[in-house]
Amino acid sequence: MLRLSGVGVSNGQAAGPVVRVAEPLPEPPASPAVTDPGAEAARISPAAQAVADGLFARAAGVEGDAKAVLETTAAMAMDPSLSSRAEQLVSQRAVPAPRAVLEAADEFAESLRATGGYLAERVRDVHDVRDRIIAELLGVRPPGVPTLLEPSVLLARDLAPADTADLDPDLVLALVTEEGGPTSHTAILARSLGIPAVVAVRGLLAGTSAIAAEVDGDSGAVGLSEERVEVRAAERADTANWTGSGGTSDGSRVKILANVGAAADTAAAVSARAEGVGLFRTEFCYLAAEDEPDVATQRAAYAEVLEPFAGKPVVVRTLDAGADKPLGFLETGAEPNPALGVRGLRVAFDRPEVLDRQLAAIAAAAGDSGADVSVMAPMVATPEEAAWFAERARTAGIARVGAMVEVPAAALIAGELLEAVDFVSIGTNDLAQYVFAADRQLGALAGLNDPWQPALLRLIAMIGRAGGETGKSVGVCGEAAADPLLGRVLVGLGVSSLSMVATAVPAVGSAVAGASLRACERAAEAALAASDAAGAKAAARAAFE
Ligand code: PEP
Ligand code: MG
Repeated sequence: MLRLSGVGVSNGQAAGPVVRVAEPLPEPPASPAVTDPGAEAARISPAAQAVADGLFARAAGVEGDAKAVLETTAAMAMDPSLSSRAEQLVSQRAVPAPRAVLEAADEFAESLRATGGYLAERVRDVHDVRDRIIAELLGVRPPGVPTLLEPSVLLARDLAPADTADLDPDLVLALVTEEGGPTSHTAILARSLGIPAVVAVRGLLAGTSAIAAEVDGDSGAVGLSEERVEVRAAERADTANWTGSGGTSDGSRVKILANVGAAADTAAAVSARAEGVGLFRTEFCYLAAEDEPDVATQRAAYAEVLEPFAGKPVVVRTLDAGADKPLGFLETGAEPNPALGVRGLRVAFDRPEVLDRQLAAIAAAAGDSGADVSVMAPMVATPEEAAWFAERARTAGIARVGAMVEVPAAALIAGELLEAVDFVSIGTNDLAQYVFAADRQLGALAGLNDPWQPALLRLIAMIGRAGGETGKSVGVCGEAAADPLLGRVLVGLGVSSLSMVATAVPAVGSAVAGASLRACERAAEAALAASDAAGAKAAARAAFE
C-alpha cells in the first residue's frame, strides 16, 4: 500500500476500487497545414454546438445546482467569440481546427487568469470546454469522469463543476485530488454529497498502477493499493437531530443559516430548512455586468433572493469586488497584489455613491420582501472603516449593520470593531489566507488554509471573547462552518451563528444539537491547545468521545 497524505476537506472514511478522471488530451499539433482552411474552419461551430447539445442533454436529466453548472458550461461552449477566434486562426494560419480551438481558448483563459480571483477560477471551465470541443473534432472520448459502474473512489488532478455536476452520489465513495484547496469545488461538492474528500495530495497521479484506495477525510491520509480492498462507504453525516431551529442540546441558541449567491441558491437553502441566510454574496449577481445596475434593477434582483425568507434573518453583504471577484463596473486598475489591493469595502471609499445606491436598493428590497435584513461590509480592516460603513447603512434605513472579519487586523481589534457595529461575521476563507499569507486558491498551500489550524482558531477565540464582552453576536460564514465537528468547536469559541453551503445545513445543525455548550467549549479548549491542524481535529474529536 502506497501511503500519501493531503488535506482532509470532507470527513469520513471510505475504501474501494479507484476510477481515474481522464487527464487532458495531448496538445493538438499546429502542423501539417490544412489544404482547405475554409472547410476546416467550418467544422468548429458545429463541434462546439455538439458539445453544448451534449451538456444541455445532461442538464435535462438533473435538477438544482447540477443543472445550473451544466447549462453554464454549455453556454460557454456556444460562446461565439471563442468559435470565431478559432475560425480566424484557421483562416489566417491554416492550422488544423483542434489546434485553433486550443489557441483561441488559451488566449481567453489567459485574459481571465490575468484578471485574477473568481474569474481566474473560471479558467478551469474554459479548459474543460476547450477539451470537449477538441475531443469532438478529433472524434475521441472527452476527458472527465467516465461512467461509473460500481461504487468507486475518484482520483483526479482537480475537479471542474461540469465534471461532477451529474455524478451519481450512490456510486462515489470518496474524492481525492492532487490539487485544490479547502475552499475548492471538490471540497464543497464532497461536503454536499456527504462523502470523504482529500485534496492537495502530492504524487497522487505519478505513475501508480493502483486499483484501489483507502481514504480518510479526517486525517487526510490516502492509501493506494495494487490489490482489491474491501469496499467501505463512509457513514452518512448524521442529520437526525436537525429540527430546523438551531441550538445546543442544553438550549444555547445557535442560528444555522445558508450562504447564497443568487436566486437559484435559495431553493436549496429553503429545502435544507436553513433558518435564514448568513451571507448573501451580492457580487455574484453582477460578475458579468459591465455597467453598474441602477437602483431599480438591484432592488428587483435582491428582492427575488430575499422573498423566500420573509420574516427570517438575511445578512446581505455589500459588493465584495476586486481581487478574486473583479466587477466590470468597479475597475480598480492594475495592482501588483490584487488580494492585498483595493477590494471589498475599500472599493467604496473612492466611490461612496455606488455603495449608497446599493444600500438604497437593499433597504427597498427588504421592504418589498418582508425579510429581516441586516447588511455587512466585506474586508473591513479598522473600527474607523466599520463606523464609516455603519453610518451610511443606517442613513439608508437599514437598522442592523455588521462587519466581516477577514483581515487579521480586524480580528485583533474585534472589541472596538463591535462598538461600531451590531455584529461581526468571520470569513474564515479570507481570514485563513491572510493569517498564513497563503493564497486560498493554491493547492500547494492548502495545508496552511486548513481551518483547523490552531493559529486561526486562536484568532477566532479572540473574536468570540470580544463578542461575549460586548454582548454582540459573532457569526462564521466561511467554509469552516460547513464542517459539523468544526461547527461544534466554533460554538465553543463563542460563535452564535453558522452560515454555510445549504447542503451542509442539516449535518451541521444536527451536530450542534447533539452537544452541550460545555462540551463544545471543552472541545474548543482541546483544539486551541494543539500545535497543528491534524492535532486540533483529533483533540476535538476525542473530546466528544
Ligand atoms: C470568506 O472569506 O470566508 C467569505 C465568506 O467570503 P468569500 O468566500 O466570498 O470571500
Ligand atoms: Mg471573503
